[in-house]
This record gives sequence, C-alpha cells and structure tokens, in this order.
Amino acid sequence: MGLLDNKTVCPRCGEYISHGIKGRLIGPPFRICPHCDKLYYDKAFKEPALATYAEKDVKFNWMKAVYAAFPTAVSILYLNSYFKGENSFAIVPGVAFAAIGVLFIIVLICEIVKVAGKHEREQKIIDLFEGRRGELSEELKDSMSRLADPKYLDALEYYGVNVPDYFHERAERLSAEKADGPAEQPEEETEE
Ligand SMILES: [Zn+2]
Repeated sequence: MGLLDNKTVCPRCGEYISHGIKGRLIGPPFRICPHCDKLYYDKAFKEPALATYAEKDVKFNWMKAVYAAFPTAVSILYLNSYFKGENSFAIVPGVAFAAIGVLFIIVLICEIVKVAGKHEREQKIIDLFEGRRGELSEELKDSMSRLADPKYLDALEYYGVNVPDYFHERAERLSAEKADGPAEQPEEETEE
C-alpha cells in the first residue's frame, strides 16, 4: 500500500490494478485488465528489448566538466599569484586545488570514454538481438517477436514510447521478407 504499491488505473473500467512492490516492470505494456478482461495500455511496463536497447543510451554529464574546471581554474589563479611573487603563501592552496583538479579531470576523462563507447555498446545490443551472441532469453525472444510487427511499434509510439529506428527498420525488413518470401532462398534439390 501507499508509495511502495505500484498500481495503474484501468482506463476501461476505472479499477485499480496493483503491480505489487514498485520496481522495473518488464513485459508487454498492452495487458488484459483482471477486472474487466479488456485490453489496456499500462505505462508501468517496459518491453524487455526496448529496455535493453535503452541501456546503451548514456548522456554526457556536463557537471563533471564543471567539477573539473572549477578547482583547476582556482589553482591557476593561486599559482599565478605565487609565481608572480605577489603572495608567497599561495603555493599551498595552488597545489591543493591542482590536486583536486587532476582528480576531477580523471573522472571527466572516464565520462568521455563511457559516452564515446555508446556506438560500440549499441552494436553489441543489436548483435545480441540478431542472435550473433548466442541464444536470446525467452523474455527477449518474445519481446523481439512482438516488436517485429510494424503495427505494434506504431501502437507503442501512439502511447508515447520511444521506439528506436533499429526496431522500425527490422520490422519493415521482416514484413517485406514475409510478403516476398525470404530474401535468400534456401537451396532446394529439384527432383525429376
Ligand atoms: Zn478494467
């Protein structure tokens, strides 16, 4: 009950549908209401494959650049004053701020490396989806077969779900293959 109870109001019958303890609810967001047996969209649920894909999206944290710039700038001011002979005590805060600056510059470099690896991470996830990294989990397999339907993608987008281009391209490719037969015909032995 209360804050920990994750629930949705059914838009069809207005009854509360409880999801138990709040957490990441993984599964198709189109669900059957246990009260009225009608299909409804539940924004508490995330399609497993879309949730996996979203993991590659890391945003650059600009605050880390600010954290690195501030002590570095202060250190330059102190050291400048020391070397100009204006203040012989400025060496102590100058060195201290320089040390903090170096520490935050290392943190900033790690952030840049993380964001720079985004495309590599995206490719790894696509390889996973395409079965190039072994068998998919049942959950992801089911999710990928739901996401193979362009109409399903449109329905998700109608409810404001972000569907990356990869899924649209895949769904279009798969439905084209379905209509025309597979792009590469398996070799057949013709018997006379
Ligand atoms: Zn209902």
